[in-house]
Amino acid sequence: MEKEYIVEARTGINIKVNEGELIEIIDLAGQQVVDFFALNQINPKEFLSAGVTIDCNESLKVTVGDRLYTNHYKKMFTIIDDDVKEHDLLHPCCRTEMYDFFYKTGENHPSCLSNINESLLETFDIRKEEITPFNIFMYTKILPDGKISVEPPKSKAGDKIVLRAEMDALLAVAACSVSESDCNGGRCTPVKIVIKKPVNERII
Ligand SMILES: [Zn+2]
Repeated sequence: MEKEYIVEARTGINIKVNEGELIEIIDLAGQQVVDFFALNQINPKEFLSAGVTIDCNESLKVTVGDRLYTNHYKKMFTIIDDDVKEHDLLHPCCRTEMYDFFYKTGENHPSCLSNINESLLETFDIRKEEITPFNIFMYTKILPDGKISVEPPKSKAGDKIVLRAEMDALLAVAACSVSESDCNGGRCTPVKIVIKKPVNERII
């Protein structure tokens, strides 16, 4: 059985997934970044870590076959399919202070940090001061001198990435709220998430 969720533009959602389930994240309109964060359902002090993921994969980029890891260096997700192959592990969630720093637009601006924190609070009494998520479809060009440039995402309408959960996890996911830069191609749009049971699950 499949479960489908729409994450409306500039909002967040939380979804519980079990080990073995497949998570499809679909860019409905194209060029929309998805801030993807997760906690271990059993021990919420264990969470998806972009830094540990870079460390374990010895790479700033991940794609099919690579794993996403927790702050405890445990595998949390495996990338099963990837239409776009250009994602970001470097940038923290957008937040009020970031909007003020770059654009002076922070007041009352929706942000991935607040949307993800509100999603977490529906299940756990947890509020993160900073989150560096897996920024799905975010295209950060890394230049030879170490500088970085955020370019419009390469994702087109209907493009998707598929992850397999390697532990029981609470997903906290936001459709990114930035319209001030090329991050989301200059506009904010909804995304779809589909949770599928593993195909080889025994029917009891
Ligand atoms: Zn954002």
